[in-house]
Amino acid sequence: MKSILVSMLLLSTTFCAVVPSVKKVDYSGFKVIRVASTDDVKDQIESLAAHVLNPGKSTEIDVVVSPDNVEALIALVAESKVLNEDVGAALAEEGEMQTYAVPSESWFTAYHPYADHLQFLKDLQAGYTGQSEIVTVGTSIQGRVLTGIHIWGSGGKGSKPAVVIHGNVHAREWITSMTTEYFAWQLLTNATFKSLVDKFDFYITPIVNPDGFVYTQTTDRLWRKNRQTVSGNTCVGRDINRNWPYKWEVAGGASTSPCSETYKGQVAGDAPENKGLKAQVDSLKGSRGISLYLDVHSYGQYILWPYGYDCNLRAENDAQHRSIATRAQSAIRAVSGTAYTIGPSCSTLYATTGSSTDYTDVQGNATYSYTYELRDTGSYGFTLPANQIKPTVVETWAGVVSMLKDA
Ligand SMILES: [Zn+2]
Repeated sequence: MKSILVSMLLLSTTFCAVVPSVKKVDYSGFKVIRVASTDDVKDQIESLAAHVLNPGKSTEIDVVVSPDNVEALIALVAESKVLNEDVGAALAEEGEMQTYAVPSESWFTAYHPYADHLQFLKDLQAGYTGQSEIVTVGTSIQGRVLTGIHIWGSGGKGSKPAVVIHGNVHAREWITSMTTEYFAWQLLTNATFKSLVDKFDFYITPIVNPDGFVYTQTTDRLWRKNRQTVSGNTCVGRDINRNWPYKWEVAGGASTSPCSETYKGQVAGDAPENKGLKAQVDSLKGSRGISLYLDVHSYGQYILWPYGYDCNLRAENDAQHRSIATRAQSAIRAVSGTAYTIGPSCSTLYATTGSSTDYTDVQGNATYSYTYELRDTGSYGFTLPANQIKPTVVETWAGVVSMLKDA
């Protein structure tokens, strides 16, 4: 009795080692065949089939059959029809099962409502809880929380110099939130970029002007500023990228009229969105420091660096800014042929005061600060068609990867 039990145990152990119970059925070459059944062959059909798909049916049965049994099955019945030539191939098209709701690449084929952008970040973060967290960067004038994602690598949270990326500061520049989300998505889902994730702590906030963004979706697609009012004036909105408290007071790079698209505000940094963004920059400056700051805008196809407030002044590392931008420009062109213009922002595009990159360069002590102006050069402008989202995010990411390798 005892020896029999031992033999059985040995047998089952051996059996398990040879045929692991977790192995998935391979349906390569299996067919789905619809056969005309009669009572006298029904049992034989079922014995030849791997699965009966409509087991309740009596006269017309759909079965999954292995390649070895196809001939025998067809010979058995009066009528048959192949519904699917290869079940294995069909399963491959269905895609891999995902444990977490990590957003897929199809996100980048359409524009989305504000709430969905927040959900995108949450879903992405939920798939990578060990190397990311949702962060908040202050609150808008209407009470929306500026929401971003912090991504880190093998060194652990907060252990590396910061890369800070802001998108959609100008409400109508919809392509910029899609693009900055693509950066985050690539960093977390694409193992190719592990060395970059290990090199920096990334702080990506795709929509830093949520009120304006929502307004472009509810009311005016071409709205630019935030939604802050000025006492005694009917015009609405400050330009968040003219409100940073550095060289804000200099004339010529912004407007003092509340009705203007580039209204600078009443006091430096008086937009609540700017308070939050400034606090983020100041805090990271005080911890591990900022290696790279990117403010992503559209349109025009430019890569710009300080300064905005003075067309003759150059950053002390102007030459490094230029060589890094030159390589990014080439990387973008190599993907798609899209041509970017590069240079210090004031002398290359136009004068700006109270701009983000001047602040991050001087006050934030960032090693490199750039403004991207994405596609296009004006044919579609801010309303880039959905079929250009994917090519735009892919080419821009190539430019940013080049910068991250250089920085
Ligand atoms: Zn802009």
